[in-house]
Amino acid sequence: MVKVFKSNVIEHEYFNEAQLEILFRSVDRLDKIMNSLKFKNQIINYCCPLTDKNEFIENNGFDNKEIYNMLIQGAEFSLSLDHDNKQNGVIGFTYPGNSTIYTYSWWFDKYGDQRYPTHLAHELCHKLGFDHDFARTQERKFTVPYAVHSIVEQLS
Ligand SMILES: [Zn+2]
Repeated sequence: MVKVFKSNVIEHEYFNEAQLEILFRSVDRLDKIMNSLKFKNQIINYCCPLTDKNEFIENNGFDNKEIYNMLIQGAEFSLSLDHDNKQNGVIGFTYPGNSTIYTYSWWFDKYGDQRYPTHLAHELCHKLGFDHDFARTQERKFTVPYAVHSIVEQLS
């Protein structure tokens, strides 16, 4: 049986009408990318250039195929826009034990139409328990959240 990835937006808050359109366009695009054969091949054949091994950094003991299967289970998103206008280079944030993805509205308005799908993919990886260094280390690019992020970006 072929699994079909589906984003389910279970709640959203503080999006105006125009922002909601971008939100729903973004989850549609994310669904298309996650269901593509290209995405599947890129995850399953992923090779980390640092280690030259067919695995992600900080993979929690899962191989590429297991990670692919975790990713395409589908996603339930609770989404919130934060209208605080600080531009500290951070796109948004999440809290442990709270499944809501908070995104700064200044970023969303500027980049959301292009990059919200990648942001959601990155946060989905965190929800699945994958993490990365906070600092921009060399390894960080090859962790599950950042690698999936760049694969989704490339397929966008
Ligand atoms: Zn992250």
